[in-house]
Amino acid sequence: MRAPATFDVLVIGSGASGLATAVSAERAGARVGLATKTTLQACNSAKAQGGIQAAFAEDDSPVIHAEDVMRSSHDTADPRLVEVLTSEAPSAIHWLEELGVEFTRSNGGYRLARCGGASRKRLLQVGDRTGHAITKSLREAFEFSAGTVLAHHSLTSLDSSESGWSASFETRDGVSRIGARTVVLAAGGRCFREAETRGELSTNHPNATGETTRIALDSGAEERDLDALQYHPNGGAWPATMQGYSIPETTRAYGAVLLNADGEEFTDSLGPRDAVSQAIFDEVEKGKGVLTPDVRPAVWLDTTRISAEDAEISLPYMLRRYRAAGIDPLSEPIYTYPVLHYQNGGLVIDEHAETTLEGLFACGEIAGGTHGRNRMMGNSLLECTVFGRRAGRAAAEKAKA
Ligand SMILES: Cc1cc2nc3c(=O)[nH]c(=O)nc-3n(C[C@H](O)[C@H](O)[C@H](O)COP(=O)(O)OP(=O)(O)OC[C@H]3O[C@@H](n4cnc5c(N)ncnc54)[C@H](O)[C@@H]3O)c2cc1C
Repeated sequence: MRAPATFDVLVIGSGASGLATAVSAERAGARVGLATKTTLQACNSAKAQGGIQAAFAEDDSPVIHAEDVMRSSHDTADPRLVEVLTSEAPSAIHWLEELGVEFTRSNGGYRLARCGGASRKRLLQVGDRTGHAITKSLREAFEFSAGTVLAHHSLTSLDSSESGWSASFETRDGVSRIGARTVVLAAGGRCFREAETRGELSTNHPNATGETTRIALDSGAEERDLDALQYHPNGGAWPATMQGYSIPETTRAYGAVLLNADGEEFTDSLGPRDAVSQAIFDEVEKGKGVLTPDVRPAVWLDTTRISAEDAEISLPYMLRRYRAAGIDPLSEPIYTYPVLHYQNGGLVIDEHAETTLEGLFACGEIAGGTHGRNRMMGNSLLECTVFGRRAGRAAAEKAKA
């Protein structure tokens, strides 16, 4: 028996993309349910430190931002999605500000950094807890709305029904089935599970396991670039408590450089992520890397080149964590090695985040196309916000039609 439509819009996942969708659908007048695997706070988005891109600098524009995305993706990104991403970036930032996010400012404007692959300074930050600040504001906005939170609801299957969609969940009390006119999948990527399978380290939250993508594919949705996984060039390699930690790319934006065993810079430290990660792998392969005290491969990230002022304003969390582990990155270089980080590809979507199945939407890391086969840093939180808002509006409209 099919479940009747309990909600107009059912959102799966409570990271930045799911929360942005839920807030936007609720504001568009829909009855919204937000189902998530464990707690509302559990996600990758809250772990994001570095920042979010938007063209605000005088010498920048959405067109230049789009050119940087296309170049970093090696022309594999979908230009229609890229145009939406970069042209709506400034208004997405203002929307987040209305919800309470306070981006770091200096000299009367946003404090902007240049991130890997970018031709301009474009990265906005909230210290180095940007993802935490964004998810907190979005979460509070949804919790104060009329929407329903369904924590500890892990999606196990999805079927089309006469009234839209019928979703099955594993809950603490057993199995539950919920009907909705439209469904938005915002359940993130799979790098935690993938790293476990490969016996590698990952930056990801344990809930990043990817079964929702599989469920959508089994229902007939199309995917693209799912094989393209991204390594974060700067995983923490030592001390042991920092292994798998993603050292913010902003360390390099503020002057840190990569050095080999001979103290030589062997690559452009602000190149695109895939190029920088590959350069580190190659340097270690050539025997020019260093070994951590527990004999893992690594190179140096010379963080002593960052000014104390920049570090205090833009990297306080990173500094605290390393100093608590007995290392001061402003006095000595730190060990680093690439670590599995991000699923570049995912479900095929259109400009309104609808998948190839009617009434089934997807946004955030679970969706493909916006970054092609190589994402630039700072464009994922942006994608979550821009396409989350769009998915929420479009799913609400379709539900009411
Ligand atoms: C350490 C780290 C640092 C990062 N730094 C940055 C940065 O500085 N800038 C940037 O732009 N990007 C950054 N990223 C990438 C970015 O944060 C993520 O790609 C993005 O936030 C993903 O958001 P999401 O909403 O798609 O997924 P997530 O935030 O991963 O949320 C997915 C949600 O779905 C839930 N879920 C999973 N499976 C199910 C299921 N079966 N049923 C129900 N719910 C389910 C999860 O519990 C979770 O709530 C970083 C990522 C990491 C891990």
